[in-house]
Order: sequence, then structure tokens, then C-alpha cells
Amino acid sequence: MAHQLFLVLGTSASLLLLPADSQAGVAQAEKGLLINVTARTFRQGEAVSVRVRCTCPGPLEQVRGEVFGQPLQFTVRDQEWWGLAGIDLSTKAGTYSMSVEAQGPGQLALRGTRSIRVAARTFPVRRLRVASQFVEPSEEDQLRIVREAERIAGIFQAPSMRTWDGNFVRPLMGPVTSNFGARTVFNGQSRAPHAGIDFTDEVGTPAASPSAGRIVLAEDLFFTGGTIIIDHGQGLYSLFAHLSGFVAHEGEEVAQGAVVGFVGATGRVTGPHLHWAIRLNGARVDPLSMIEIARNR
Ligand SMILES: [Zn+2]
Repeated sequence: MAHQLFLVLGTSASLLLLPADSQAGVAQAEKGLLINVTARTFRQGEAVSVRVRCTCPGPLEQVRGEVFGQPLQFTVRDQEWWGLAGIDLSTKAGTYSMSVEAQGPGQLALRGTRSIRVAARTFPVRRLRVASQFVEPSEEDQLRIVREAERIAGIFQAPSMRTWDGNFVRPLMGPVTSNFGARTVFNGQSRAPHAGIDFTDEVGTPAASPSAGRIVLAEDLFFTGGTIIIDHGQGLYSLFAHLSGFVAHEGEEVAQGAVVGFVGATGRVTGPHLHWAIRLNGARVDPLSMIEIARNR
């Protein structure tokens, strides 16, 4: 069940800036932005859906915004503008301001702000035993780790057009372990929290693209083993890890449901599974929260 906050902006002049050069009267103050913000829950590690409409007589021509230090990018369908924001799993609990700027008919400049209260969340701790090379890597491997981390960070920052249609599905039907955000201890040593979810399945089980996108990485990496990153556009990426093999190649466009690789046990693992992570404007969010948002769109 999606938690929904609904607010009409523009009923209060303080929340709405009308054309800077106009004498904003009562009639114009009624033309405002309707901003509808939904999420599975407003907690750390959740994707947030932002829908914007205008009460003005014509369609909005441009919409953009900002929240959690991330740009909000929108696409339009049936005069409704839709964008996504990510509450990173390490975002501090508290109240954040979201701003939306839009251009209405006749160069009408509109602006609205919203408060989003992010609740704290307690993540479980998981303790795993893996091959010692993944906990105490050699000097050579340490250099490789840094190189790969920089490369992936660069990929997640590259701007791109949206290619997906707003629909998101699971990459495979097997059982999912929802251990998103778990504090992880490998061989007694604390490491970065688990920023994805795991599907336990047999080696060789096909893994499909959750939505349309472009393959921007398909290779073996130190920690994530056989890795595929799919760019869905506008700051949204899927990452598959521990694959035993690939079907898709870098640069290839893939449709939703297209098999891109196969479940494996490569990299830092305790057994065969598919690790699926999502980056949304740089934020690490639970893939299941993305599926939920898409379903309730
Ligand atoms: Zn995982």
C-alpha cells in the first residue's frame, strides 16, 4: 500500500511565485502546481514518485526540481509530469525540502515547495564468511578495487535520456531475500551496507532486465563478479552482480524482460544468487520500492 501525501500548492501566495513581472492577483494565485508525492514508506532506502500537474488553463511546458541534493527530472504523459527521487539508505532521518519549478502556458513561471519527512529505519546485521581475499585483498587487488569503484561512480553520474516506460518487474521469479540495507560483517569485519536484494537461485538461471535500458557495463569485477549495469535513463540504473555469464553486451539496448545474463556465484559470495541493486540519482534504494512505485503509478 503506497503512502500518499497530497497537497495543492498555490492556494497560499507564499508557496507560489507567479510571473516575476506580473502583478499577481487573486485570479492568478489560483493557478498553481499540484504536487503529489508517493512512496512505499518515507524511509531510508526508498524510491519516491513525484507527480506534477497545473491548475492553469493550458499544459505545463517544462518541469524540474530538486530534493535531497539531487536534481528532479520529469517526463510528461497526459499533461502529468512524473519524476523520481531516491532516499539514500544513509540519508539522515529528518525533514527535507523539495522544490519544483515549472513553466506554464504563456511563459507562466510557477514554483512550489514540499516538505518530505524521512523516518529512521533500523537495518539488521548479517554476518557472512567468504574467501579471505575478499576481506584482506592483496595490494594488486586493492588497486583494482579502487579503479573499479571509480569507474562505477562515473557511470552512475553520466547523464542520459530516459528509456524506460515507468514499468518495473523482477529480474527473475525465484525467492527474494529482502535484506536491503543490512549492515554487513564479512569474516568478522564490518563492511558497507548491503545496497541491493538477493534472489537465491541455481547457477544458470536467466536474469532479465527489469525495464528497458542500455547496457553500460558488462564485465567481471572484483567484488561483484560477473556484473551488468543497465542505464534506464534520467539517473536510474540497475546493477546485477555475481553472474555466471552474459548475453548482453556493452552499448546494447535492451527491452524489459530481455535476458541479459545468468545467475552465478562469482565475486564476494557465499553461494549462487543474483544481487540486484538500483541507483536513483546516486541514491541506493531498495529495488522492491521501485517496483511498488511503478505499480501504483
Ligand atoms: Zn546481495
